[in-house]
Amino acid sequence: MNKKQNLIVGAGLSGSVLANLLATKFNENVEIIDKRNHIGGNIYDYYDEETNITVHKYGPHIFHTNNKEVWDYISKFTKWHYYFFKPNVIIEGNLVSLPFSLKTLYECFSIKMAEKIEEKLISTFGYGVKVPILKLLENNDNDLKFIANYIYDNIFKNYTIKQWGLKPEYIDETVSARVPIYISHDCRYFQDIYQGIPLNGYTQTIKNMLNHPNIKIQLSTDFDHSLLYRFDRIFYSGSIDEFFDYKYGKLPYRSLFFDIQKVNKEFYQKTAMTNYPNNYDFTRITEHKYFLNEKSNKTIISIEYPQEFKINENERYYPISNLKNNSLYSKYKIEAEQNKKIYFIGRLGQYKYYNMDSAVENIFKLFNSLNTII
Ligand code: UDP
Repeated sequence: MNKKQNLIVGAGLSGSVLANLLATKFNENVEIIDKRNHIGGNIYDYYDEETNITVHKYGPHIFHTNNKEVWDYISKFTKWHYYFFKPNVIIEGNLVSLPFSLKTLYECFSIKMAEKIEEKLISTFGYGVKVPILKLLENNDNDLKFIANYIYDNIFKNYTIKQWGLKPEYIDETVSARVPIYISHDCRYFQDIYQGIPLNGYTQTIKNMLNHPNIKIQLSTDFDHSLLYRFDRIFYSGSIDEFFDYKYGKLPYRSLFFDIQKVNKEFYQKTAMTNYPNNYDFTRITEHKYFLNEKSNKTIISIEYPQEFKINENERYYPISNLKNNSLYSKYKIEAEQNKKIYFIGRLGQYKYYNMDSAVENIFKLFNSLNTII
């Protein structure tokens, strides 16, 4: 029996996990193409020889999951630098902990005032509870109203306007809920059981996944519809609207510009990421050496400027989830389901703001639904 031939468009995390599963578990052939000149998609990182620092080229990526299956799977391809992400945000010119937690409360206010608000937060919501900002704003208690407005004005409003071009209440509520107010003294960005950064980088991890005799990688290669006829299955991790030549209209995305700078001093800032909601045109600065605790007398930072996505000018980073855009996506999805040979995967193929672990989880689900018999 001939081996099945699979085409995977896009060598990002979703495409690479799928390539690995098809090759190793089904013993099928996989051709994986990517229009960029590197593997890894937006989790791509590179090692800068001059400074000995690993740079997350397309923004900070911290792997975190509660899913043991996902963690164990990725762990087959990398050792981990165990790492808790504890970023900062500038509020009224002061560097404080992000997300806004009870720790932040005491960093921003006098002990007396913080104690009063802490008590209200705990008695209203409970200790250890995460409250999205839009939910906190709904409260009528004067103290809670005060703290909700303070957090909204100092962390969410202008950051979100810069990031999305809209106030938090005009984008999908799950977006600002990614960074909830945390009624706890735990000041980590994530509370997942498993958290870390691949010890030799994300790119090396992806390289290890793709290192199999059944997998052929072709970089700097555009997808072309004539390829459809040569393969038994096609998995497309590009943007679904582009695949269909934008026949129902363009799906909007947000993009980013990273101003990556080498700085001739040991450290630029106190932690890996500092957010600047109310100042400047950028949203945040990432200092890359912190992720793997790399030692260098220089440092590398990237200053992150959100942008509108424009075809052929910049990259797609975030789908903009709202009723209008999601209903446009549904039209493409219905069309996609007509063709049983083609599967759309990942953030761009499914128009979903996936974290890395959900991207992997979704590939597991898809893979389990596939049938290997021709
Ligand atoms: N956000 C904010 N201020 C912050 C951090 C986050 O308003 O200091 C909001 C903003 O809308 C952002 C969303 O929360 O897009 C999710 O933030 P996250 O850090 O998860 O974004 P990512 O790292 O995925 O870009």
